[in-house]
Amino acid sequence: MAEFDVDLFVIGGGSGGVRAARIAAGHGARVMIAEEYRMGGTCVIRGCVPKKLLVYASHVQHEIEDATGFGWTIPQATFDWPTLIANKDREITRLEAAYTTNVEKSGARVVKTRAVFEGPHTLRLATGETVTARYVLIATGGAPNHGAEIPGIEHVISSNEVFHLAQLPKRIVIQGGGYIALEFACIFAGFGSDVTLIYRGDNVLRGFDEDVRAHVRGEMEKNGITILTGCTVARVDKHGGEFTTHLSNGSSIASDQVMFAIGRHPAVANLGLETTGVAVNPKNGGIVVDGFSRTSVPNIYAIGDVTNRINLTPVAIREGHAFADTVFGKRTVEVDHSNIPTAVFSQPEIGTVGLTETEARAKFAVVDIYKTNFRPIKATMSGSDSRVLMKLVVDGTTDCVVGCHIVGDAAAEMIQLIGIAVRMKATKADFDATMAVHPTASEELVTMRTVTARYVREAAE
Ligand code: NDP
Repeated sequence: MAEFDVDLFVIGGGSGGVRAARIAAGHGARVMIAEEYRMGGTCVIRGCVPKKLLVYASHVQHEIEDATGFGWTIPQATFDWPTLIANKDREITRLEAAYTTNVEKSGARVVKTRAVFEGPHTLRLATGETVTARYVLIATGGAPNHGAEIPGIEHVISSNEVFHLAQLPKRIVIQGGGYIALEFACIFAGFGSDVTLIYRGDNVLRGFDEDVRAHVRGEMEKNGITILTGCTVARVDKHGGEFTTHLSNGSSIASDQVMFAIGRHPAVANLGLETTGVAVNPKNGGIVVDGFSRTSVPNIYAIGDVTNRINLTPVAIREGHAFADTVFGKRTVEVDHSNIPTAVFSQPEIGTVGLTETEARAKFAVVDIYKTNFRPIKATMSGSDSRVLMKLVVDGTTDCVVGCHIVGDAAAEMIQLIGIAVRMKATKADFDATMAVHPTASEELVTMRTVTARYVREAAE
């Protein structure tokens, strides 16, 4: 492969790009990986990891509230936002360094600079260097959408800036009804901020199971979050350090911050793609790839959020690994994108895998639903009015569990394991035959015996 400077050039040092670079180097490839911002990408630097740290921090407030019922008096609990942010930044810096070290240990070379295409095999670095590569992997991820150019959009922060606020906003308006909007609404509510969530549809989390949507909304409202649906932000005015958010329904809200979390778009701009012939899907802006993450140009591959398939870190990592094994490891691996378990770190958490009730009813002739909504043991002493939702969606013909949806503490941890069972096509009878772990919330998943609802599709005339 000596006619090229490297065998593989990876653009983007996020979770997917790093995994691909390390595995390819392990297969003996000469690898260079370019990152223009910070190694680790969205997940590590301004996504999943710092978000989870903030979730832990804000959850302390709920623990303190719950403690009283268990006999604890915590009279002088105080919270300091700058301390939290400084500690979080220290941990992210440590992780960033570990990412760089691990890539370098694998033998790949890290270049901390922007790289753009000058042709299918040629990259120009911002340092002025030009590198030729036999294969190129685009792993540039995505970036927050800003939405329509409403007046005052310059006052609005995104999930990029929210991790670096100098002060905890006492009042915050968040637009969006997806993962990020819900997670940050709950984070700020946990810290005692007055939170208003603005969502354009009729209920948050479109695409999730309807029972999950209704349950999580109710729990968030119990936690004091105001959720306004059927409206959008039309204008944001700034007066000193305060903002007035004007809504499409004519009302307005005063706050100390305004954040939009209205989706993300693939980072394809100014990459020089036009010099390569790599096709971009005009509908979703993602790079078009086949089952092996190969683009329309044979030596160029793309993985992760830039392809706009399923925008989750573990998916990008799996795609990066599969790419490296396929191209450099003499082992053809295609990623299975079905039955991917996922969690929303709202408070309470959501864990979900497989089909929603609506999807199952469209797909199967007979669908059985098992559902429970209960007060967890802890709440009986803490006095909390939070409730847990658990739901199994079963193909009534084969008895396979085709979907599981949980809202409650530790839902994310539970759904990781239920994901194995769903993937292995476990039946409801398998769930029933599994001994319960008592006393837990998850034992409900193996002890729901009575069908809550059975749907039988009418035979076509
Ligand atoms: P989502 O796609 O989850 O949600 C976007 C939300 O914004 C939806 O409610 C959508 O409404 C709304 N919206 C879109 N466009 C507009 C607009 N122009 N005006 C008003 N509202 C609008 O995106 P997020 O930004 O929350 O997160 C991006 C992605 O990051 C997620 O899809 C997920 O893949 C990933 N992620 C995963 C996490 C996890 O695994 N825990 C955590 C955070 C992010 P509608 O439903 O009507 O389209």
